[in-house]
Amino acid sequence: MSRWRDAIESAGPLPDYMWIDGHQVTAGDRDQIETLDPGSGHTLQSVPAGNSDDIAAAVAAAKTALRGPWSEITPKARGQLLHRCGERIRADAKRLALVETLDSGKPLRDAEATVQRTADYFTYYAGLVDKLEGTTVPLGQNKVCFTERVPIGVTGHIVPWNVPVSMVARGIAPALACGNTAVVKPAEDTPLTALMLVELLEDAGLPKGVINVVPGRGDVAGQALSEHPDVRHVTFTGSVPTGKKVMTAAATHLASVTLELGGKSPHLVLNDADLDRAIPDVLAGIYKNAGQICSAGTRLLAQRGIHDELVDGLIAQTRTMSLDHGLNNPDMGPLISARQLQRVAGFTDRARQRGIEILIGGNPATIAGCEGGFFFEPTIAGNVAPDDELAQAEVFGPVLSVIPVDDIDQAIEIANSTAYGLAAGVHTRDISQAMRFARAAEAGQVFINGYHGAGDTVPFGGMKDSGIGREKGMAALGAYCEVKAVTVTL
Ligand code: NAD
Repeated sequence: MSRWRDAIESAGPLPDYMWIDGHQVTAGDRDQIETLDPGSGHTLQSVPAGNSDDIAAAVAAAKTALRGPWSEITPKARGQLLHRCGERIRADAKRLALVETLDSGKPLRDAEATVQRTADYFTYYAGLVDKLEGTTVPLGQNKVCFTERVPIGVTGHIVPWNVPVSMVARGIAPALACGNTAVVKPAEDTPLTALMLVELLEDAGLPKGVINVVPGRGDVAGQALSEHPDVRHVTFTGSVPTGKKVMTAAATHLASVTLELGGKSPHLVLNDADLDRAIPDVLAGIYKNAGQICSAGTRLLAQRGIHDELVDGLIAQTRTMSLDHGLNNPDMGPLISARQLQRVAGFTDRARQRGIEILIGGNPATIAGCEGGFFFEPTIAGNVAPDDELAQAEVFGPVLSVIPVDDIDQAIEIANSTAYGLAAGVHTRDISQAMRFARAAEAGQVFINGYHGAGDTVPFGGMKDSGIGREKGMAALGAYCEVKAVTVTL
């Protein structure tokens, strides 16, 4: 644990406040939320549990900022400012990544990649600010009609715990690019890096009040943000039931929503696939971030001709995986919390009771030196029926369900047989088969011969219960601009 104490020390003081209108707001007589290091179970920090008054203050600050210096800078200058934000994040990347690992449990190298992505979102949208052009509409000789894209107003961002800092950035960077302001409500389990991020952005020159961060409980602060009448758009990532609550609350004042609600994504391996590529790719698709990724490839559809060889290979490579504290850069870190550990273990316990064979893993793990951590073994369940709970529900843990399939027709039917539609993957050497699957898959993203192969500039979002709208890339901008049409009669 001396490594842990050294890490905490080198991270420096951790935020213990909210950030409203460019100021720290400490807990005072408010409730506090403890945030833990999932790798050790130790308390890292406590932050104030923001209430509806705090949300109202943050929304008021964001509304005022809409009319302040932020509205006066030119698109070119706004782009330059967002560019500086990216650079400022890069300058503090080491510290941000360290705190992200301590707060969310992910291996340090993954946290470093996450922070890089956080900076990249700002750099990418920086380049688009002065290209948000309108159109002209031909209405005949005696009229001139043009459209312009104008900011939507105050935007709310409710963020989960699985990729805390980059999920904040993927929402606020396009929102800022379009000239909006924002209030961010981070997850209870991971409030720290969002608070660190806003300070870096203001240090880069973002005017006060443009971004406000109010940690707090979902049913209090999250609910207050979703239903606040001055919030014109809510971007939410998390579970389906909470997404429905957010949409219902936003509907009370007709605010628009972007909902990213998880998935149960299929990963198909056909008989002609290159198994040397497919095996590590299937494993990366499920075990990255300990399976706590909405687009994880959780259902392996294995064509019968390669099923046994594929599964043997997956088990053999899973056996070699290291499980440890994120600071030690293992293959896999802990789950986020005791609650999530219990939830994931519940899935495998119930699967065993239904007679499903757990081929490897399936249990909480104790790691020497990290006995209080929330570790779960990398797990593969064999011969899972397509309608079984393990093949239908989002586990959000490192649990792969193997489903044998006869052919591509059956694979497509099974791939589309859940309520979700976020991502899908296929391994094959036959481009026609790959494209057939890609076209038929009910999914917002399809990966051919490389799961998670798309980058941060590629539109991301789901069909069916996986959500509404798209984040990332140019597609995200639509949520953050109103189109105003101006018609002149000559
Ligand atoms: P959640 O959906 O309850 O929480 C996500 C965010 O929503 C958090 O910031 C939370 O504080 C906030 N929230 C909670 N209730 C709210 C409300 N009434 N109004 C507004 N905001 C509210 O998810 P969870 O409880 O942290 O995790 C439960 C399950 O959700 C996981 O096991 C997993 O299946 C799924 N999940 C999915 C994602 C994803 O990326 N799609 C991320 C996290 C969790």
